[in-house]
Amino acid sequence: MEMDRERLKKIIEQESQRLDNQTVFGGFDQYLKKMIQKLSISVPEELLIDVDRYPQMSNSAKSIFLRDLETYLKDGHQSQPFTPQPSPPTKSVDSQLSVRTINGVGPVVEKQLNRLNIYTREDLIFYFPRLYQDRGQIIPIAKVGSSVLQTVMGMVVRHERIATRRGRLLKIVIQDKTGQVSLVCFNRDFLARILTPGKKILLTGFFQMAYGKKETSRFEYEIIDSEDIQFESILPVYGLTDGLTTKKLRSLIDTALKTTLSVFQDTIPQPIREKYHLQRKPEAILELHHPSRSSFSELNKHRSRSQIALIFEEFLLFALSLKVRRHQIQACRVQPIVLDRKFIDHFVQKLPFELTFAQKKVIKQIENNLTSGSLMNRLLQGDVGSGKTLVAIIGALYIVKAGQQVAMMAPTEILADQHYLRWSQVLKDFGIEVGLLTGGQSKEKDEIIEKISEGKVHLVIGTHALLEDYVQFNQLGLVIVDEQHRFGVKQRSRLKEKAVVPHLLVMSATPIPRTLALTLYGDLDISVLDEKPVGRKPVETVAFSMKEQAQAFQQVGSFLEKGQQAFVVCPAIEESDLELSNVNEVYGQLKNKWFPRSRVELIHGKLPSKEKDDIMIRFSRGGIQILVATSVIEVGIDVPNANVMVIENAERFGLAQLHQLRGRIGRGDQVGLCVLLYQGKSQDIQKRMEIMVNTDDGFLIAEEDLKMRGPGEFYGVRQSGILEFHLADPFRDWKILEKAHEEANFILQDDPRLQKPENQILKKEIERRFFQISSDELLIEA
Ligand code: ADP
Ligand code: MG
Repeated sequence: MEMDRERLKKIIEQESQRLDNQTVFGGFDQYLKKMIQKLSISVPEELLIDVDRYPQMSNSAKSIFLRDLETYLKDGHQSQPFTPQPSPPTKSVDSQLSVRTINGVGPVVEKQLNRLNIYTREDLIFYFPRLYQDRGQIIPIAKVGSSVLQTVMGMVVRHERIATRRGRLLKIVIQDKTGQVSLVCFNRDFLARILTPGKKILLTGFFQMAYGKKETSRFEYEIIDSEDIQFESILPVYGLTDGLTTKKLRSLIDTALKTTLSVFQDTIPQPIREKYHLQRKPEAILELHHPSRSSFSELNKHRSRSQIALIFEEFLLFALSLKVRRHQIQACRVQPIVLDRKFIDHFVQKLPFELTFAQKKVIKQIENNLTSGSLMNRLLQGDVGSGKTLVAIIGALYIVKAGQQVAMMAPTEILADQHYLRWSQVLKDFGIEVGLLTGGQSKEKDEIIEKISEGKVHLVIGTHALLEDYVQFNQLGLVIVDEQHRFGVKQRSRLKEKAVVPHLLVMSATPIPRTLALTLYGDLDISVLDEKPVGRKPVETVAFSMKEQAQAFQQVGSFLEKGQQAFVVCPAIEESDLELSNVNEVYGQLKNKWFPRSRVELIHGKLPSKEKDDIMIRFSRGGIQILVATSVIEVGIDVPNANVMVIENAERFGLAQLHQLRGRIGRGDQVGLCVLLYQGKSQDIQKRMEIMVNTDDGFLIAEEDLKMRGPGEFYGVRQSGILEFHLADPFRDWKILEKAHEEANFILQDDPRLQKPENQILKKEIERRFFQISSDELLIEA
């Protein structure tokens, strides 16, 4: 057998040189067919079809086919079903290789995987099931019908088309020995092509009686294409994307597991693993893709042994990385800043208002940091409108007055621009030079860069472009980051890699419960602005059903008559075309139907940034009365004369996001009005609208949002890269998080820079995921 296999490989190799089907007497294609049978190699369908077509293929098609075949044989496909055992694989393949290196992944499948954020073999292996279904209990169709998930097995017998108001609805009828059940396929007409009569399927869903017949409209299915198929009784269900079937995804994961699983070593030190009885990593990974019946009840609660082990690991690495970073930063000695209090007093006196008590408190904390001789590394939290920017500017002035430069980073160009417009004006009177640096290329940009390097610009406001290598500061003393939720641990570290290690102040309007903040931002000190400036009136919020849109726009009209401006916000939908048509429609209506005599403009994420900036600037200068926007205006924009905001399809936004949005209005001395237009009558929507109408406290809203939607969606953190957890969820798993923090402390007490041999795996993994760990006592000498 082995010899046959070797010979087959050789012949494929030779045929790859010739491509004439003549490597073997009687034809290469015939030989290949014979060998596939003889060695019972389970070749994927696509390849089998190609075997027959081989003689007719073009040379390049032949080459590709042969290459696929070779990798397929190499990847060690056997005919027996997947054995869930971490048996030593023949050879292990690097986890960072592209999914393209997995057999069965061509350009099309690669795109599909990318849509699921799967790029490497590692991503694929760590793409864990959404949930698990018990398919061990297949029941007769005669017995279905209850409120729980049930599974039947049957054959497709026919398709039916039922006339409805919206067209013809597809029903697919399935039958077993005991009866029939219909699959009601709303918007899933394509199923007619897949579930053709005669197909045998495994069907899981919620079944009910309708007009005396059994049916289901909420179901998942799996086609059973050969009798001897082994389906596992506990079925992992994965998040899928258009065109990618469960079956295909599972087979790709299995292929990746076979060759790459052994690469994943345990990073949790053995004593800790034993203390908590944590499963070993490769076993845990396998268990999640091939669960055993005994763990079923725990799996959907995220409490199986395998899940706990992997969650613990994620938290441990995360906690360690934050703590190590903190150690490193604290070890830095810097020149204490000499505070020019007289200047600051003068500056504060010139402000048209008094600082709030909370602002004074935080400024004090910052002063203490700056004079201490160690680095500041501080998170400044505060609801929208609490006056964070001003606090940061005062910090910046201290630095500038001490002869150093400040970089202030905003998440978008619009915001950078706005900060710039505002502060360059104000600070000019105090003899401070402010510069703007965003992406793109221009002559002015080169000039600014030069001025920065010469130290002629004191405060540089910009976007992530400030992090680029070509930006060299003369003496960078402080970095301010606005709206930190787009700014993860990795970026924080990147800053420190710049030649000079500056103080860091991060501002965030995202209210996070304090205990959680301590663990999530364990590398930062935290200040909170828990008080709003006096005289600030809360934005009045009302909620209307979409049908009452006319009322909403009448309100807008009355603000315009007073010479004020308005925002109309539409949800940004991922699929770009949809987004545009939606916003465009609203824009068209406002412009032509509702406010033909006002200046209405449209702004959205797809516009070139130059144009966006242009529109924003005109809006803030009063040249535009109504700005129709997607959520690009979400953060930070400050237009004191804009006091009314209509939010279309408010039900599509998270509460925290709605709160951020309405924070854009009522920033002057006028009372702001926010009109939420929602669609849908569900209780959930009603409740959310109610919360928005009744509450103005960002922290409270955050908590409610958290309860309803979970942390990931709410903070947008999962996408932002701050929390790169696969399985762990700090809110759900906070008990494990606490333990992991404890253990991280023990480890570091003993070995602060992870230098001991037994901690090398941990160190390597942290460096791979987060940042380099320096072994020096001091990062820089002051
Ligand atoms: P945040 O960034 O926290 O949302 P900003 O710093 O942008 O808030 O401040 C919002 C508005 O409040 C700005 O127009 C600012 O000038 C003003 N402001 C800041 N501090 C005070 C204060 N103590 N009293 C009155 N207004 C203030
Ligand atoms: Mg702000």
